[in-house]
Amino acid sequence: MNKKILVTQSSIPTIEEYIEEIRHIFESKWLTNMGEKHKELEKNLKEYLGVKNISLYTNGHMALYIAIKSFNFPEGSEVITTPYSFSSTTHAIVQNNLKPVFCDINEEDYTIDVSKIESLITDKTVAILPVHVYGHVCDVERIDEIAKKRNLKVIYDAAHVFGVKYKGQSIANYGDISMFSFHATKVFNTIEGGALVYNDDEKRLVLERLKNFGINGPECVDMVGTNAKMNEFCAAMGICNLRHVDNEISKREKVYNRYLERLNNISGIKVSRSSN
Ligand SMILES: *Cc1c(COP(=O)(O)O)cnc(C)c1O
Repeated sequence: MNKKILVTQSSIPTIEEYIEEIRHIFESKWLTNMGEKHKELEKNLKEYLGVKNISLYTNGHMALYIAIKSFNFPEGSEVITTPYSFSSTTHAIVQNNLKPVFCDINEEDYTIDVSKIESLITDKTVAILPVHVYGHVCDVERIDEIAKKRNLKVIYDAAHVFGVKYKGQSIANYGDISMFSFHATKVFNTIEGGALVYNDDEKRLVLERLKNFGINGPECVDMVGTNAKMNEFCAAMGICNLRHVDNEISKREKVYNRYLERLNNISGIKVSRSSN
């Protein structure tokens, strides 16, 4: 028998823990549309991440799509981003009828090369969409400076940095909106799921409405939205997994240290390290 060595495996709670968490859903029969589990996960994540506002979605991609959509950028506007990401990042830009403009990455940690951003700005540029890569945080301070100076929005693809702090602060405090993915393969999962975190309280209304067909009250639909609501079973999985996430992160840290120890001294192999 071949023993498989898995590169990754989804983290899940015990079946008993999950059953306990979904018991209430069977009693209430409230399956989706921002029910009790949805609200509880929002609250727990806000505390864990130390963020002011959070909105939950069916997946990270729809969250990113909605984050971009919420700014109502004119069609054909340009968004400076990085090709070194999962295809979702570029798709979210193109699906919004915007043009992705690729900026190179730096060799150290594979995040966007901030020294090359400004040369790509044109009179059509409306936003920068950098990606934090493998737990490495972009040069968020420099990106904020450029964005302020040139009056651009900043939306982070933060799918790879759940729980990562920058100078003791949540990375969600940089830029206008950050997106997390809670896909089964990520360090924290809700089976499928995602979130947007943001400081601007006024953004909440539009970010919530866009995931629910633009509905604004029982008799009013005054914007074109989509359907990207996280359901109660996914939220319940998130509530369970969040209890164990610190352990999951330290398990990955052990693997990282082992790679570092065994690979770093081999010539021709460079192990990626964070510059922060
Ligand atoms: C996983 C991931 C996404 C997409 O998230 P989903 O939840 O799978 O939709 C986007 N960007 C990056 C960098 C990712 O790793």
